[in-house]
Amino acid sequence: ARELIQRSEKLAVAGELAAGIAHEIRNPLTAIKGFIQLMKERIAPSYYEVIQSEISRIELITGELLMLSRPQAILYQPRNMAVLLDHVATLLETQAIMCNVVIVRRYNTASLNVSCDENQVKQVFINLVKNAIEAMPEGGTVTLEARMEADELLIAVRDEGIGIPEDKLGKLGQPFYTTKDKGTGLGLMISMNIIEHHEGRVRVYSQVGKGTEFQVLLPVVRPPETAAEHGFPLN
Ligand code: ADP
Ligand code: MG
Repeated sequence: ARELIQRSEKLAVAGELAAGIAHEIRNPLTAIKGFIQLMKERIAPSYYEVIQSEISRIELITGELLMLSRPQAILYQPRNMAVLLDHVATLLETQAIMCNVVIVRRYNTASLNVSCDENQVKQVFINLVKNAIEAMPEGGTVTLEARMEADELLIAVRDEGIGIPEDKLGKLGQPFYTTKDKGTGLGLMISMNIIEHHEGRVRVYSQVGKGTEFQVLLPVVRPPETAAEHGFPLN
């Protein structure tokens, strides 16, 4: 197992900057896109294709970088992780089917509550499940698991894919590290950033040719009864 989170203030500052730049690129890009569309009839179709696909690429990268901006308000609310994972599985169902992948859910809807920003944590599991699907070009099974481990809720995303060589584990989460033709190398960095904000941890286990398991550990919401036991009586 490898712990992937190292607290880094530098990365936080760089992230803000990157998100700021991405934001600035978006408006001119929208204008360019509009004008290219108007010029469609006057450009050779093959050139038009290239321009469109490169614009899409910029949009993909800036879109991911924008997620590095500090959210206007991080909304920490108690959330049932099982429900959240169900949403993620449903969202990615179509992509999974197209890739011959089955998403198996191994958790029950018992009180797997964590205090979190729902949208951000969803984004983390969307990234992890997407990576799992993309790691299995021939298809296979992605398993989602959630269980308590000591004081933390452990959520695992496991695949039967290509795996990650030992010497590449250190690169995970580094900006722009990707082994994919159409990858951005930003998904894991953003995910780790979000988990760090939640005071959680990310672990990875991988075997080349066998598969990979990403584990996210999040501190759980203490039930009110327990909190009261440690608190002061009010009367
Ligand atoms: P991207 O998916 O755009 O490449 P990520 O940050 O999501 O960027 O992932 C970075 C790299 O980490 C991937 O390109 C891949 O090499 C590796 N990786 C991540 N998840 C997995 C996985 N489940 N199985 C194998 N390799 C993975
Ligand atoms: Mg990815």
